[in-house]
Amino acid sequence: MDVKPPARRSGSKREEMIRKIREEYKLDSPKVLKAMLQVRREKFVSKADVNIAYSDCALSIGYGQTISQPYTVAMMTDLVVGRVEEPKSGSNKKLEKVLEIGTGSGYQAAVLSLLVKEVYTLEIIPQLAGRAKKTLNKLGYKNIHVKVGSGKWGWPEKVPFDAILITAALEGVPDELFRQLKIGGVLVAPIGPRQSQIMTRFTKLENGKVDKEEFQNYVFVPFVETANPEG
Ligand code: SAH
Repeated sequence: MDVKPPARRSGSKREEMIRKIREEYKLDSPKVLKAMLQVRREKFVSKADVNIAYSDCALSIGYGQTISQPYTVAMMTDLVVGRVEEPKSGSNKKLEKVLEIGTGSGYQAAVLSLLVKEVYTLEIIPQLAGRAKKTLNKLGYKNIHVKVGSGKWGWPEKVPFDAILITAALEGVPDELFRQLKIGGVLVAPIGPRQSQIMTRFTKLENGKVDKEEFQNYVFVPFVETANPEG
């Protein structure tokens, strides 16, 4: 009689994903990894990919878009929350409002929502926004607000943001997004042409200027340019 090995539970696959990020990619960010350990990535990928939801790669989510590789999510999240000191007691959610541009599957928003008070996320493809909203509701995430629209204009009704995260590739950041950022706030985005971008963290300084730090190279799906906020 053949005895099949037991299917690996998603919990242990998730632990393995975290181990890899910490040990192989050397990203030691306990709070980000702790958050990622709580998010069921298999719920954000297509049905056909449930078994490879924890693989070390980006996966298609339809409409030509992808859910980012786990390490990329960890790295970007760390660039947003890494510098924020843990409060001595009470809530660990020091950042009040973070804007994500490019909801995609909703996975990055779910990870962020465990680390900040409110996540506002914009998606230009209505079908993806609708699906992400449904997934996030089903899983019980209450502090994520999804809206269909182009990130180019940000979310003026909810300004100012402590941080802005762009998960699509663009050559330059629209000025309006810097206007919607608090002084001292950070904007993290993959900057560069279609073929390759450099992960960049901008910090809005008191004198109105912007400081810029550059990290690794990545390839993201492109940011879609639109003529109006509705996309
Ligand atoms: N953060 C996502 C992955 C995003 S992929 C996740 O966790 O799954 C990038 C997303 O940005 C795509 O869904 C794409 O449709 C969206 N996008 C591209 N240009 C945009 C724009 N101008 N405004 C809002 N969303 C945009």
